[in-house]
Amino acid sequence: MTIQQQIYWHTTTQMPDDSSLAPLPDKVDVAILGGGYTGLSAARTLAKQGAKVAVLEAETIGWGASSRNGGMVLTGLKLGMQTVQKRYGRDLAKRLFQYSLDSIDTVEQIVKEENIDCGFARNGHLLTANKPKHFDALKEEAEFMEKEFGHKVQLVTRENQREEIGTGLYHGALVDEVSSGLNPAQYVTGLASAAEKAGATLHARARVNRLERSQNRFSVKTERGSLSAESVLVGTSGYTREVTKRLQKKIIPIGSFIIATEQLPSELANELSPKNRMIFDYKHYLNYFRLWDNRMIFGGRAAFFPETANTIRRSAEILRREMTQVYPQLRDVQVEYVWGGTLDFAFDMMTHMGELDEIYYSLGYAGHGVAMATHSGRTLAESILKGSLKEHPLAAFDFPGAPLGLYNGFPWFLPFAGAWHKFLDWVE
Ligand SMILES: Cc1cc2nc3c(=O)[nH]c(=O)nc-3n(C[C@H](O)[C@H](O)[C@H](O)COP(=O)(O)OP(=O)(O)OC[C@H]3O[C@@H](n4cnc5c(N)ncnc54)[C@H](O)[C@@H]3O)c2cc1C
Repeated sequence: MTIQQQIYWHTTTQMPDDSSLAPLPDKVDVAILGGGYTGLSAARTLAKQGAKVAVLEAETIGWGASSRNGGMVLTGLKLGMQTVQKRYGRDLAKRLFQYSLDSIDTVEQIVKEENIDCGFARNGHLLTANKPKHFDALKEEAEFMEKEFGHKVQLVTRENQREEIGTGLYHGALVDEVSSGLNPAQYVTGLASAAEKAGATLHARARVNRLERSQNRFSVKTERGSLSAESVLVGTSGYTREVTKRLQKKIIPIGSFIIATEQLPSELANELSPKNRMIFDYKHYLNYFRLWDNRMIFGGRAAFFPETANTIRRSAEILRREMTQVYPQLRDVQVEYVWGGTLDFAFDMMTHMGELDEIYYSLGYAGHGVAMATHSGRTLAESILKGSLKEHPLAAFDFPGAPLGLYNGFPWFLPFAGAWHKFLDWVE
């Protein structure tokens, strides 16, 4: 069987399509750009409070990273909490870490309240050490997390590692039992139904091309007509483009790619990941992987540029090689699917929420968006309704642009950054 360039998750559910396009309303309270976790979660919260909300999606609902990701619902931020504390001080670091825990609770709560069948489970995550000194860093991290945040994680020595993962490759690992896993496409589909049930209208093939402001309202021009909105909220993540140019210049779109194997015998699947953890390694150019329905779902930043047929094809080979380095047992196993998606990184690697040119936004999830985008959509909506956005922990620090302003939205420096990360993985 040849490898299909197709998102495996999409074969596990009926994704929203564009078979019946609802006409756009003339006038709404809030127009939301982007039909992923951010936009849909915000829409659900706003509509529940009685606001008239339209979600405008350029492709089909859930088309972006929200149906393509690894389904890891993780504690913490992209940056380690020691770095966050050094940069922002103890109080804000505490609020930010708590925010990451609340994000997982929000996902769990929505899944329960809305009866979303997406396999949400608190399986925990496993962070593996690629080198002995990474294990020393994990030890330090574990002590820091307990002392500063009262958050307990467990260290796993190299000797005991096979209780957690079926490989001898790593030099020990760290387990965080609070993290969770789910099927991202089933989750975003359920979130879309929940937003609709709350009263929001969802519009596929409604790319927003222009936003004009006059008399305290926005005229929102989409590819299939215009509408008038009191407020605009942007949840376009790694797909942020010229229509919000000032935000586009603050976000670096980075490709990430995933392969899915054929279904493995249960015994083999159980050997690879006996506790069904969400696994990722300590490298800059990292791999992340987990099981779903006895398939190994194995991802990484195999090419830095966002997905094209070419980067996806190359990624299949690279990821297969990396997967068999971790798990030689998978050498003869068929890889059935490969796909890519685009992540959103801010220049400081932090998530940002706020208001720019009177437009609300939440962006920069840096690979933590399953939990954070869901919670941020919700809390951004709540902050707008209460008028308390300035107090939000993700609005408490600057949203920097590129150093020296050397960026207009096309990430020309990615090949250099990619090479730099590979170099760091070699020397560090
Ligand atoms: C391969 C991959 C693996 C990942 N793995 C994980 C993981 O395991 N755990 C984790 O926490 N995070 C992971 N992430 C990140 C996570 O998926 C994202 O952070 C999250 O889905 C962002 O949600 P969002 O709603 O903000 O954006 P998206 O889901 O990307 O949605 C943005 C939408 O905006 C639309 N759009 C753009 N411009 C316009 C416009 N002008 N008008 C209308 N619509 C527009 C796009 O079409 C898109 O559908 C991964 C991402 C990728 C790509």
